[in-house]
Formats: sequence, structure tokens, C-alpha cells
Amino acid sequence: MDPALLERTLADAGQPAFRAKQVWEWAARGAKGYDEMSNVPAALRAELTTSVPFSSLELVQEAFSADGTVKALFRTHDGRSVEAVLMQYRDGRKSLCLSSQSGCPLTCTFCATGAMKFGRNLTAGEILDQALHFRREHDVNHVVFMGMGEPMMNLPNVLETCRRLPAVGVTHRRTAVSTVGWIPGIDALAAEDMPIRLALSLHAADEELRSQIMPVNDRYPLSEVLAACDRFYEAKKRQVFIEYVMLRDVNDGAVHARQLADVLDPKIYKVNLIPYNPTGMYDGSPRAVIERFKAVLEEHGLRATVRMTMGRDIDAACGQLAAKAAVAETAEDAEAAPATS
Ligand code: SAH
Repeated sequence: MDPALLERTLADAGQPAFRAKQVWEWAARGAKGYDEMSNVPAALRAELTTSVPFSSLELVQEAFSADGTVKALFRTHDGRSVEAVLMQYRDGRKSLCLSSQSGCPLTCTFCATGAMKFGRNLTAGEILDQALHFRREHDVNHVVFMGMGEPMMNLPNVLETCRRLPAVGVTHRRTAVSTVGWIPGIDALAAEDMPIRLALSLHAADEELRSQIMPVNDRYPLSEVLAACDRFYEAKKRQVFIEYVMLRDVNDGAVHARQLADVLDPKIYKVNLIPYNPTGMYDGSPRAVIERFKAVLEEHGLRATVRMTMGRDIDAACGQLAAKAAVAETAEDAEAAPATS
């Protein structure tokens, strides 16, 4: 549901101001449709069904992992694929991984989403509807913008979504935006009132290697990105999480760990090492290599953890989103192409 459209529609219809709030709260608490909203007049509910779509997304498919992870594939009204993932942890955390774009214009070499054709920025309603989908079955309490797309390239809609998330059960402090290092977005988030967490996908401390595996580094070099993250820390006094995907014999040596430790201030940064999830391009680092890398960081006083891999069996793990959707879209494109071409 698009709360802004809801507010406009009800105001135009001359409804009292509390109505929009009433309807939105039902949706935010997991109502499955307008007909559940028992304190909203039936005639108005009927009207809303046509004027404000209950969801902007159509659920195409849902996959359930053995570890409790759920991946949902949606389609927008204009046929774009969008994926979102629910992760359930033993400690009670229920974390949603949301997409901010359909596809991604950046071409990080290890990420499946980057190989998919870029669609467009998602609207705030489309981002929110991913969360509301899972809210209908679960008491979600964390959100990470680590799904498809680069959230900083669609920051106004991401922030608009964040503003609505507390009603869904997710506070700003339990919301994190992950970026490749899109500097204008980092600065904008630092200037924002909401205490949202920042995560940086770093992946190589050496500029040349980083440019090779993440071409966006040519536009925003790591040294400048880290300066922006330092500014974020100064403004918000919140630690920045570093994501570092472990690619065998590419960025996983002790020398790479030392380079990483050299550029990160332990006061500002905490490192999350991510086991590589197969997307065809690389091999993942063996467990022992990841542990050695972690030990080197710790020797330098950095806090480091190894990310638990979840949902790999349903292609829902980091970097795996849209592998299947991309295949489906390519097939559709082929069908849509003129037969004579
Ligand atoms: N564009 C933003 C948001 C996506 S977050 C960003 O890159 O930060 C998705 C995270 O998964 C990023 O840290 C990304 O680098 C990581 N990732 C991508 N492909 C991966 C893979 N194959 N295995 C493990 N992690 C991967």
C-alpha cells in the first residue's frame, strides 16, 4: 500500500484526517485486505479497493529454505521482477532484506543482481509492500536494504519507506542501508534525522583490485568513500558495518586483511566477512582462510564476524537475488521480440 496515495485519496474524498491513519495502521499491522478493517465504513472500503491498490506488487512465487528463510518473488504493475527475503534467527530476530530497485545498474562482478537487466527504481509503495507481505505472517523486527539494487541511488523512496517502518514493527535503529559507496547517498543519510544504520560493501582495500571487482570504484574511489563514512560516523556517532565477500585467491589473503586493517579505524568500523554465495563467477574462500583473515583483522584491533549464510538452497543468500528472475525476463524478451528480427 502506498500511504501517500492513501492520504491524498481520502483527503480528496473529504474524509476526516484520522481515516488515512486508521487504514494505514491496519495494513501496517498485517491486515490481509480492506475487508478486515472493521472500523472503516464498508462503502469506503469498497471505494478504496479500486482507488488505492491494497498492494502494488503481485506475488509470483515463494520459496522456503530448510533454515526458515523465505524468499518472495513479486512483479510490479509494469512487469518488473522484485525479490525480498525474510530471515529468521534463533534469538528471535526476524529480519527482512528489501529491494530498492528492480535489477541494479552497477555491475559488481560477483553479484547475480548486477548481471540482470536493470529495470528501474522502485516506488516507496513498492518497497513498503515487500515488508507488508511478510508482516501478514510474521512479527518482523529488523530491515536491511540489502536486496536487489543500490539503495543510495533511490534514497528518497528508501527514506520514505523507512519513515513508515516503525508502524510495521521496525524501528529506525533496527534498519540498515547498505551501499557500494555511493557518496552523495552516504552524505544524505548522515544529514537525515532518522538514526538509520549504514553498511558499506567494501570487498577490497586496494583501489585497483576494488575497481576490478566493483567498477563503481572508478567513480567513487574507496579513499573518498571512507572519508564519507567517517563523516557519517562524526554526524551520527554510530558504527559503520563493513561487508567483505570472501573470494578465493582474489581478496582473501593475509596481505588483503592487513590492507583492510590499515584503512579502517576500529572505533568507527566493524567488519562482517561474507562467505561467497555461488553465482558462477568465483570460488568461495575455504573456511580456514576466512578464519585466518578474521584473525589478522582482530590482531589489528578490529571487530570482525563471519556472516551466517542463510537461504542458499533457495538462491536467497547475499548476491543471489534475481538469478532466476533474470532468466525468466530474458525468456520473455525473446518471446516479445519480432519473429523476423
Ligand atoms: N547495492 C548495495 C545493496 C545490496 S547489498 C550494496 O552492494 O551494498 C548485497 C550484499 O551482498 C552486498 O554487500 C554485496 O556485496 C553482497 N554480495 C553480492 N554478491 C554476493 C555473493 N555472490 N556472495 C556473497 N555476498 C554477495
